[in-house]
Amino acid sequence: MSKIKKGDIVLVTTGDDKGRTGKVIRVSPSAARIQVEGVNIQKKHHRPKKEGEKGQIIEKSGFIFISNVKLICPKCGKPSKVSHARAGGGKRKRICGKCQAVI
Ligand SMILES: [Zn+2]
Repeated sequence: MSKIKKGDIVLVTTGDDKGRTGKVIRVSPSAARIQVEGVNIQKKHHRPKKEGEKGQIIEKSGFIFISNVKLICPKCGKPSKVSHARAGGGKRKRICGKCQAVI
């Protein structure tokens, strides 16, 4: 089970985007890497295909390693270490390391 899920808000803890927070928009199938809104922006130049068309610059968030982010707890608003606990019914739940809330 991954610590980070799509839709989570995370804090980038290392690299060029250190200190930036954003929403997780994609988790790679291996769960090793994620895409975060506004983080690791890659600019792509789109050349015009037809005459008279304008070229475009498309900005896209690149993948970053999941180990480079911390989850921001929606309950206490702090970047926290997530742990997992087994709740009733054998379902695994994420627990905030700061406020112990189930997130
Ligand atoms: Zn918390």
